[in-house]
Amino acid sequence: MSDAFTLDSLLTSSPIFYNEAFKQNQGVGMVSQRTRNRLVKELIDLGVSDYAVLNVIKTTPRHLFLDEAMASRSYENTALPIGFAQTISHPWAVAKMSAWLFQNGPLCKVLEIGTGSGYQTAILAQLSKHVYSVERIEPLLTKAVSVLTKLQFNNIKLTLSDGHWGWPAYAKYDGIISAASPEKLPEELIEQLAVGGRLVMPLGGSDKQLLYGFVKTETAYTEECLGEVLFVPMKTGLVKAEKV
Ligand code: SAH
Repeated sequence: MSDAFTLDSLLTSSPIFYNEAFKQNQGVGMVSQRTRNRLVKELIDLGVSDYAVLNVIKTTPRHLFLDEAMASRSYENTALPIGFAQTISHPWAVAKMSAWLFQNGPLCKVLEIGTGSGYQTAILAQLSKHVYSVERIEPLLTKAVSVLTKLQFNNIKLTLSDGHWGWPAYAKYDGIISAASPEKLPEELIEQLAVGGRLVMPLGGSDKQLLYGFVKTETAYTEECLGEVLFVPMKTGLVKAEKV
């Protein structure tokens, strides 16, 4: 990804906006740019160096994806509860996965498994032309739709579905990302990648998970282990609003 500035200047420069409609809305809320910059600085100290990814983390109002009771902690580098035993992704994990996914620049079509709060979806939507995101818990999906609509994203499609099966209707994807960890790689996700497409996801049960990056080739795929991580498990089936 092109890096016309130094990372230090990222903290002091005006943010670059990749989505004009979102530009009008990103300042909503009560959290100062200084608080957001502190998070960006922490990510830089942890080794994140992708300028475009750091820039979208800087401009994305994470507090709007959390309940008010959590808002004061929203720029801490930690996962936080969003209800239904799920968490908003750890900013470091969002940065690490996004930097790997977008290492050759913005992508056209990206599929996300596990919308959750919609925070990672908002990051993806600033680095991709089209984002498709699936979530299995209906009340979480409804909330995410409401925040993403309020922020005027116009390049995101969301659906209630079990992500083990991907989202075949819009395949093939240039990138796929999952914030939920299955025991083993769902082959459907590889099938729904375009040749040259990239898939980043954790694999493994709740005791030990490893983050993997896969790149689809003409005949198979390559894989790279990106380190140890901790995500929620990828579960099967749907949780409908009337059942909770
Ligand atoms: N990136 C999200 C992370 C949410 S946690 C955020 O920042 O908020 C992971 C999400 O994956 C949860 O919302 C969980 O319900 C969802 N999930 C788990 N298994 C799934 C499956 N099989 N299909 C779709 N979503 C799934």
